[in-house]
Amino acid sequence: MSALPIVFWPDARLAQACAPVGEEDHEALVRDMFDTMYAAKGRGLAAPQVGVMRRLFVMDIGWKDGDPSPEAFLDPVITVRETRVESIEEGCLSLPGLMVPVERPVAVTLAWRDARGDMHMRDFDGFEARCIQHEIDHLDGRVTLDHLGETDRADMLAGYEAP
Ligand code: ZN
Repeated sequence: MSALPIVFWPDARLAQACAPVGEEDHEALVRDMFDTMYAAKGRGLAAPQVGVMRRLFVMDIGWKDGDPSPEAFLDPVITVRETRVESIEEGCLSLPGLMVPVERPVAVTLAWRDARGDMHMRDFDGFEARCIQHEIDHLDGRVTLDHLGETDRADMLAGYEAP
């Protein structure tokens, strides 16, 4: 059990696309990522945020409300995106203190492998759909700021200082 150091923007690793997990051993990493996410009081964490460039994220949207639902998503793929979009402010453990409005589809269908190797496909909406899209952005080398136009991005960054 150990929390890993979090990679903060503008670290170059947050702008790189990740490689598939494939058959690589990931058990210890998944455990450490949950430890890191809970220690940082987050509800989602992607591997590149701890410097591991693999397509893997963990999510537990209910733990802060006493309703834990820890899930690990390996090599996740969004197969369907709802056409209706919504703009909501998102925080990010790699961008502490910044709340960035991001427009995203309100629902998605996701295919992934869990930590035991079982395949899943399921529809998500609400906060889960948003969190999943946010984490998959990380796997593609994208952060919330990358959704903004130049002016909004500059305004947002005026108040930002990496820890
Ligand atoms: Zn993030």
